[in-house]
Amino acid sequence: MIYAGVDVGGTNIKIGLVDIKGTIIADNYIKTDKTKDYKGILDDIVEDIRLLCKKAGIDYHDVTGIGMGVPGVVDSRTGTVSYSANLGWRDVPIVHGLEVASGIRAEAANDANCAAWGEYKFGASRSMDNVILVTLGTGVGSGIIIDGKLFDGVASAGGEAGHMIIVKDGKQCNCGLKGCWERYASATALIEQTQEAMDADPHSLMHEVVRKYGKISGRTAFIAAERGDAAAKKVVENYIDYIATGLINLGNIFHPNAIIIGGGVSNEGEALIAPLEDKVNSGLLANEHNPKVRIIGATLGNKAGLIGAAALVM
Ligand SMILES: [Zn+2]
Repeated sequence: MIYAGVDVGGTNIKIGLVDIKGTIIADNYIKTDKTKDYKGILDDIVEDIRLLCKKAGIDYHDVTGIGMGVPGVVDSRTGTVSYSANLGWRDVPIVHGLEVASGIRAEAANDANCAAWGEYKFGASRSMDNVILVTLGTGVGSGIIIDGKLFDGVASAGGEAGHMIIVKDGKQCNCGLKGCWERYASATALIEQTQEAMDADPHSLMHEVVRKYGKISGRTAFIAAERGDAAAKKVVENYIDYIATGLINLGNIFHPNAIIIGGGVSNEGEALIAPLEDKVNSGLLANEHNPKVRIIGATLGNKAGLIGAAALVM
């Protein structure tokens, strides 16, 4: 059995053929051509799936389903993208459109939910039934799996942990609210916090790290901290505290088996994961009487969304 997984982003669309074990047989990406309407973009995707089949020596008609992850609010029950800011889509009947364009059965879900589903089925949290994926990237994405099912609320409008408010009247978020978790815990926020610390301390090693790597990034403070820079250590510690604040909230509400950390920042590995696991577990209610909530780095990397999308139709 072969399935196609599609992970639509504002710039690129990742497309792959995936087998029943979650292994990618062939994959590539195409540009998201925003000059086209959704039907034009779906035609591009189907053309690419045909191309991948040809490359992999697979008959297109052997593709049994296409799953698609889309950034935004995707009502997976009706197969409609209610709203996607990145793509400028509103009430787009994406599943029907994809089935018409491809002649193949299709499903769609929010991209973060697809990534969570991929990690749950084939990645870091196999064999666990209650898991939450949190991605620390430009924003903070999340996917919540309860008893082996994706939980995303009425009309798939929920499950957006990145916009839980952790600071009353805090920093302005793109979503319109103030004090959202992603304004403190995303890679974007980390860069902002790094810049502020650099401005306050002209002698910090972080300046040298920025010169060496050409620009400030989510890695700057971690690199300088590892080399013992006090200001950088403070940035990292403070940033990890912000992440932990949201994770403790999630932990106390859901008490999952594990919370999986994905997104670019998760590449910091143990420097991030180990202190997070300590902080989160010591913040959980009655922690000494309950099983630990494991904090695990994502294992499927930036292919989690594609694999999870394919897994929607398995
Ligand atoms: Zn927000």
